[in-house]
Amino acid sequence: MTLHIPFDNTYARLPAPLFTRQAPVPVRAPELLAFNHPLAQDLGITGDDDVDELGRVFSGNEIAAGADPLAQLYAGHQFGHWNPQLGDGRAILLGEAAGFDIQLKGSGRTPYSRNGDGRAWIGPVLREFVVSEAMHTLGIPTTRALAAVATGETIQRETTLPGAILTRVASSHIRVGTFQVLAARQDYAGLQALYEHAVARHHPEATDPLDFLSGVIERQAQLVTKWMNVGFIHGVMNTDNCSISGETIDYGPCAFMDAYHPMTVFSSIDRQGRYAWARQADIIVWNMAQLATALVPLMPNQDEAIQAFTGAVHAMPDRLNTLWNATLLRKIGIARGQPGDQDLATELLQMMSSQGADFTNTFAALSGDTARDQFTDREAFDTWATKWHTRIKSTPDAEATMQAANPILIPRNHRIEHMIQAAVTGDMAPFTRLMQAYARPFDRDPEFTDLTHAPTEQERVRATFCGT
Ligand code: AMP
Ligand code: MG
Repeated sequence: MTLHIPFDNTYARLPAPLFTRQAPVPVRAPELLAFNHPLAQDLGITGDDDVDELGRVFSGNEIAAGADPLAQLYAGHQFGHWNPQLGDGRAILLGEAAGFDIQLKGSGRTPYSRNGDGRAWIGPVLREFVVSEAMHTLGIPTTRALAAVATGETIQRETTLPGAILTRVASSHIRVGTFQVLAARQDYAGLQALYEHAVARHHPEATDPLDFLSGVIERQAQLVTKWMNVGFIHGVMNTDNCSISGETIDYGPCAFMDAYHPMTVFSSIDRQGRYAWARQADIIVWNMAQLATALVPLMPNQDEAIQAFTGAVHAMPDRLNTLWNATLLRKIGIARGQPGDQDLATELLQMMSSQGADFTNTFAALSGDTARDQFTDREAFDTWATKWHTRIKSTPDAEATMQAANPILIPRNHRIEHMIQAAVTGDMAPFTRLMQAYARPFDRDPEFTDLTHAPTEQERVRATFCGT
């Protein structure tokens, strides 16, 4: 049976400046590395059993029937600085199936490539595959990974590396920066068309741009809180990497925190810690202010719009605070907070940070009686634990609350690095094992106990690179 993808390409019917029709650039020798059959099924894809055909289609060497390949235009603030012209420099949207974008990433140069080669190497491709699928099983809105294909070509980064292409699935690739580019060009007809498209796809209940903005703000507040709950650090929260749908998008130098410290940063290019773990809640407000600015021209009365939009953005920090406070309480087994609970939780975080306790393992161990092992000053922890036990003694659902909030497994950076090193030598076994383990991140499966371990001093990954 041949592959069938039920394409319906609504983005390709939007006004011209939003994209450029562009076919993927063929590769030398495509070889399928991974394919997500359950996701394919959700997309209505059939006949996905011929690995050679999958390799050809998801490298771009063969264009599936019904696809209308294009590269999307966007702009964005990168580390706070306006960049008027970005866009898919190495990605091609094949089209949409079941309402989801199917996009090749690493598929060759486009009109938006600037000085880039349009390609990706196998490291970031497999990193995004594993981490985005893990985010999904962790219950966090995210783009998904459908396929990874080795290209049979080498590409030049710091060294010569094997090339690969990721097929990414998203409920759309509309970014804050997609609105920004049209607003900056004063293309208000295009802006209106994009707005209507985005409303139909993501916020059909929205009655006007203020309502739409509020919807995006709420989704982003929920998203960032969920990131913080699992110690995720996106790494490049530029407005071009901030999705209107509220999904995590663009896994570049992202990483999970091991030892808890709120100012943890991994990205080698984030020298000022703009996108540190705890800062993400401030930055998302800044990003929403940029979206608000881009939406103002859609309103009939500019002054009223500015006032209303400012109100919506200014309400966001409080909303984030509320969400985070509730999240943190759930991590210590409290579903309905009482006065004093927040101090109790904050005290634990402070101890964790000053004693370098592992973020994931400390919270996971609260369900047993080994959490004190995470601390150097165990008496201090015991004093805290006595207070905490007194508080949750009369709370029958504390255990269930904690288990639902605290994953056992997260994609730790050193495991991802190890997996990539193996894949470069042609060994996909670590990839397969990680995919199996992260399919059930809330289970304590003895087979994967080693994956719960924090890195040793030698294993610890200190920096991640955009060198994608
Ligand atoms: P990122 O930081 O990965 O979100 O990328 C920022 C911009 O650079 C996006 O518009 C990308 O499409 C583009 N880009 C990143 N890597 C490459 C590459 N190797 N070739 C062409 N464009 C790229
Ligand atoms: Mg990006």
